Amino acid sequence: MKILYNLEELEIAKNEYKQHSIAFIPTMGALHAGHLSLIDQANSVAENVIVSIFVNPLQFGPNEDFSKYPRDIDRDINLLKSKKVDYLFCPNFTKDELLKIKQVPAEPTLADILCGKFRKGHFDGVVTIVNYFFELIEPDYAVFGEKDYQQLKIIETMVNNLSLNVKILAAEILREESGLAMSSRNVYLSQSSRIKADEIYKNLCSMSAEISKILAGDIELNKKIQRIIDSYKEKFINSGFEIDYIEYHWSRILIAARIDGVRLIDNIPA
Ligand code: AMP
Repeated sequence: MKILYNLEELEIAKNEYKQHSIAFIPTMGALHAGHLSLIDQANSVAENVIVSIFVNPLQFGPNEDFSKYPRDIDRDINLLKSKKVDYLFCPNFTKDELLKIKQVPAEPTLADILCGKFRKGHFDGVVTIVNYFFELIEPDYAVFGEKDYQQLKIIETMVNNLSLNVKILAAEILREESGLAMSSRNVYLSQSSRIKADEIYKNLCSMSAEISKILAGDIELNKKIQRIIDSYKEKFINSGFEIDYIEYHWSRILIAARIDGVRLIDNIPA
């Protein structure tokens, strides 16, 4: 695995890989098995795989966890070496360099709902950096996790709207044995919060089962789904969660919940 620390090194690597197909996986590091499953998917479609690790300041709000976001590049490099990864791109941009990146707004109809309501400007920051990395790397494929389902939809829309020449692949959510969706932010959870966090997936599953039962062409479907969601929202709140949202979109239930200040997201089909 070649490690590329800057644009010059990326340019040299591009001359090597441009004869081959390449799949790109953008990450913010603090890698876990969920990220590694994206690498397997990338290897199944392309000859070369490039992973980026970049904690993107543009997608964090002023009161969010940018400075304390978990970072351990040596551990990440070792994990990546356990897989077939041809290049790791881990740039360090100065403030000036970041300011020069062409701003690309996220599609507002998708970016202003769900997480976008609670994280103003978050998806504009995501789309801006992903578009910049696409321009730099010119991948044939890019793999994104369904864990960040709204992000996946927004990236797909960006690629369509800008007619970019990259195929977006979706990777299923990888979960802990308990059902908790793997996330770099899980390290923030205390032991007791971790046990509580397991309730998210359990409740998503029972909500999904209840919604599936009423989906068969029922009238007043939306009202019934909303009633189910409201009852689970109450259940979560009673057991100590703060709920940013539980909503039904794209035939999925999506949730953002806070436990002792740690914000977790998850979603499943329903
Ligand atoms: P992040 O480092 O959190 O920005 O995530 C990088 C990529 O990994 C994104 O496309 C995420 O959706 C994906 N990802 C994160 N957690 C998981 C998971 N548990 N299962 C599958 N993909 C994931």
